[in-house]
Amino acid sequence: MHCIFCSIIKKEIKSEIIYEDNYTIAFLDIAPISSGHVLVIPKLHFTNLTETDPLMLAYVMQSAQKIAGAMAKALKLSGYNILINNGAVAGQIIDHFHLHIIPRRAKDGLEAWPQGEYQASEAGQIAKKIIASLPKS
Ligand SMILES: [Zn+2]
Repeated sequence: MHCIFCSIIKKEIKSEIIYEDNYTIAFLDIAPISSGHVLVIPKLHFTNLTETDPLMLAYVMQSAQKIAGAMAKALKLSGYNILINNGAVAGQIIDHFHLHIIPRRAKDGLEAWPQGEYQASEAGQIAKKIIASLPKS
């Protein structure tokens, strides 16, 4: 199975790597939503968030926290979005779990959150369905 992100981890493909430790690596997205857009990935191959080992997920988030702080300082950001696209319909293009750090600047024109609303008892019914499907601990 060929995975472009696994090739980046093995340094078979050149990328602008900005951070690396034992479990994670981060590099610039070659098709940035905004300048400085970074991807953080686990060094082990997992298809998506659902499949990712929880400990690896924790390492990815810890790396993201460090990197986002450095990005905010270095790029003088007003803020940033953390985004995970899970599944093709959600915009996931590479089937190796990755977390996006998207730089935000005042009046950058990006609109992340068009907001809707629920009908009468809809929210309660949806919440019950999700709760019933949570793993039992
Ligand atoms: Zn991979």
